[in-house]
Amino acid sequence: RFISVEGVDGAGKSTQLSWIDRWLTNARIAHVVTREPGGTPLGEKLRTLLLNEPMHLETEALLMFASRREHLAGVIEPALERGEWVLCDRFSDATYAYQGGGRGLAREKFEALERWVQLSGARMIQPDLTLLFDVPPEISQSRIAQSRELDRFEREAASFHERVRNAYLERAHAAPERFRIINAARPIDVIQQELHVLLSGWMRE
Ligand code: C5P
Repeated sequence: RFISVEGVDGAGKSTQLSWIDRWLTNARIAHVVTREPGGTPLGEKLRTLLLNEPMHLETEALLMFASRREHLAGVIEPALERGEWVLCDRFSDATYAYQGGGRGLAREKFEALERWVQLSGARMIQPDLTLLFDVPPEISQSRIAQSRELDRFEREAASFHERVRNAYLERAHAAPERFRIINAARPIDVIQQELHVLLSGWMRE
């Protein structure tokens, strides 16, 4: 099974992702933890470029998809074929939210790229479950402001982050069977109690 974790910068996604990783280990579920952009040696190099170099919007999208192509072939598909679970920090939904919602890249462009990078074309590899950590912009912005050095995306204006959030929510509402929206404005332990219930239930499905 394939689980992706999404959310705006400052939603607390990374903390919760490490917790889910430990939860899966405790539940004795063989899994790989990976991320986008990144996840492979080349993907990590692309990540460094994406996070630091100013670039054209289309270039950004193409590099994101180049990273995804490597990731699908090198990590995600092999793990799923071995019968392991994949826990991925961001996947295609992040493209809809950031390059689409945030930067305004036309939907047809990234939909075409999404089909293009899938391996066999027979089946689109998509998460079975997507956990969307959602927080209002005031909270995510104040969390970002307190954090370490900011990357190129985190330095964007508040309106950018708001568009990203709205695009995520729109996508979640369009695919309710796959998405679970988690109110990430609450304390960490409360969120983890909810995740425990959610994951235990989902595992039995
Ligand atoms: O998940 P993390 O915050 O580490 O992601 C790194 C950065 O890459 C984020 O700031 C996010 O905004 C950006 N990103 C993006 N488009 C994607 C995936 C990530 O703009 N498709």
